[in-house]
Amino acid sequence: MKIVFFSLFPNLILPYFQDSILKKALDKNLFEIEVVNFRDYAKNRHKKVDTELVGGGAGMIIDNNALRYALESYKNKFPQARTIFLTPVAKKYNQKDAIRLANEKVLFLVCGRYEGFDERLIEDFADEVLSIGDYVLTGGELGALVIVDSVLRNVKGVLGNSESLEGESFGNNLLEAPNFSKKGEVPSILKSGNHKKIDEWKNIASLLKTKFHRPDLI
Ligand code: SAM
Repeated sequence: MKIVFFSLFPNLILPYFQDSILKKALDKNLFEIEVVNFRDYAKNRHKKVDTELVGGGAGMIIDNNALRYALESYKNKFPQARTIFLTPVAKKYNQKDAIRLANEKVLFLVCGRYEGFDERLIEDFADEVLSIGDYVLTGGELGALVIVDSVLRNVKGVLGNSESLEGESFGNNLLEAPNFSKKGEVPSILKSGNHKKIDEWKNIASLLKTKFHRPDLI
């Protein structure tokens, strides 16, 4: 999978891939990342990428120029790319999206700043728009990283042990059962060695956890 971030702040993105599981997967070429600073595509002398809102309103938005040129150029290079704009004005991202997007060959994640994007950029380039939650961040970079991290977990080979995905939260719309380490008091069934009984216990615990924390999932 190739992932291209469109961002005015590449330094907010690149360090995330320099450690832990994703670094290992990157080193094994299980995915590739590129960050396009779309300021480089601005054609004006001062490389300005923001502009005032028409019709009034506080703040600035990303204008309809530099990002447009960057997206046009990358769409020509990667016509099969799925282009996602990060914005709070969107459906809320979830685990089903993570699993679905893990099948894409090329993902473009477009990160906003200021008061967001000139709407025509979204109309002309977005295959989908995604929000990571009901709050407003200063920029799309964190959201793009949240999406990419959760997508990559579902790309073959990225997790050392793919069994880690089994029983994870949100599979079957349930939260994961509680986990314990070996030492000390734990529910005795977990030490019984009876896998059928352990699975039964985990299913019930998972259901109870979900009912308590997230009844909306059931
Ligand atoms: N004025 C916009 C609004 O009220 O909907 C908020 C703009 S926000 C300050 C700047 C950028 O941060 C957005 O363009 C988007 O890329 C990103 N962003 C902020 N909150 C987000 C969220 N919940 N999910 C995804 N992206 C978000």
